[in-house]
Amino acid sequence: MKLFFLAVVAVAALFIAQVALAAQLFATYPQVDQIASWLAMRKVEIHCLDKAEAYEDPVIASGAEAYVVGWVDERGNWHPYNYAVLNEGYCELLLEVNYDPMLRGKIALAILILTHESGHLRGHKWSAFEDKTQCWTMRHFGYVAQKLGYTDPEILLSLKQYAIYWHLRLPSNYHLESCVLPLTS
Ligand SMILES: [Zn+2]
Repeated sequence: MKLFFLAVVAVAALFIAQVALAAQLFATYPQVDQIASWLAMRKVEIHCLDKAEAYEDPVIASGAEAYVVGWVDERGNWHPYNYAVLNEGYCELLLEVNYDPMLRGKIALAILILTHESGHLRGHKWSAFEDKTQCWTMRHFGYVAQKLGYTDPEILLSLKQYAIYWHLRLPSNYHLESCVLPLTS
């Protein structure tokens, strides 16, 4: 499995305008927005792309699986916009509980991505950094999975194991040395 990444895009106004323009077409799902808003502690939206929209999106087309647009001010405060963009296929996996073991790894990745981007959307200073946001993601992964309906202890455990599998495949700048991963045994 190749490395993947979950971008924060801190950009100049011109590029924001381009991103905003490119991201005009997308689907949203109230239940996905609700979980993202719960995590972000404010009202946010998840823009769910299909294959054609993903192809047109400059950030996703560059290899990111998801991203949040925002800017960092001169004091180092992070100001994310009120939405995250997710590559094709992730949102749809979060709409209902699915116990198919063949899908479990993909579902874990979708939960991880939703949680990670919602972390960026919180707008705290730490949430502009990939390593701190990803550590926060791993600490909240189990709660998010349960909120989505994965309350069976064995399935929850299996999802957490997959989350660690994906976590370990993120590039080095996503890894906080002091991060304690969820227990899986
Ligand atoms: Zn990120």
